Amino acid sequence: MRRLFDHIREKLSVRYEPSECESISFLIFEHILGYSRLQVHLKKDETIPDAKVTEIEEILNRLVEGEPIQHILGKADFFGLTFYVNPHVLIPRQETEELVDWIINENKLAAPEILDIGTGSGCIPVSLAKNIPDAEVSAYDISAEAISIANQNAKNNAVSIRTRQVDILQWEAVSIDKTFDIIVSNPPYVKEEEKKLMQEHVVSHEPHLALFVSNDDPLIFYRRIAEFAQQHLSPEGTLYFEINEALGHETVSLLQENGFNNVTLRKDINGKDRMICATR
Ligand code: GLN
Repeated sequence: MRRLFDHIREKLSVRYEPSECESISFLIFEHILGYSRLQVHLKKDETIPDAKVTEIEEILNRLVEGEPIQHILGKADFFGLTFYVNPHVLIPRQETEELVDWIINENKLAAPEILDIGTGSGCIPVSLAKNIPDAEVSAYDISAEAISIANQNAKNNAVSIRTRQVDILQWEAVSIDKTFDIIVSNPPYVKEEEKKLMQEHVVSHEPHLALFVSNDDPLIFYRRIAEFAQQHLSPEGTLYFEINEALGHETVSLLQENGFNNVTLRKDINGKDRMICATR
């Protein structure tokens, strides 16, 4: 086992940082052999059956080609929960966990009505439903595939959320007879011109629909969601966004121009402008 572990790390080192190689190696052992990190250490002298070694080699080849480990294993960890993911939805990010944590910590309401716009895998609404008692959680996405994955993730994590296929840029065309106490969104925010700065495995394996916006109007989702919120956020309600780190101040101004008087910009753990909370 020790030798196999070293072999995996070496093979992955062509594409990943040492710390990533290590964490991916543990994920592979857990998936193929069912071993925890501790068991990998304790059983280091054990011989792994050939069939399992072959399965591990197949995974390694896909990883070296650039396929994300979450797609190969069909799952991603987020906020202590497990989410099914495939190329139709964004792989949940740590920055988004920070946003979810912020919402949970700030919420003072009992049984709030919550809406997540552009839900993808459903990682935001499912985590909120799991952690805010009696929350009524809704989730919109333009993509039918995403809606079906979000439903599946709600079911797998034993919470109930109401999903609906909505193109938020066309929200006036949809009949919505509700107001929400919390509206949250992690919309597409990477400018086309920033694509070349992104990791290749993100650009080639994750949905462009969820990632990219045109250079001409990169805040289009924020503007349309702010307009939607004017109609559908309760007077005391709060709007939360994940944002492009390079557009923090522009996004704050846009919200102020759209009637949000109290806007807070917050950095992620890497010190980048990453999220906003806004009230009227
Ligand atoms: N933070 C994501 C990335 O860098 C982008 C998420 C988004 O566009 N909403 O890949």
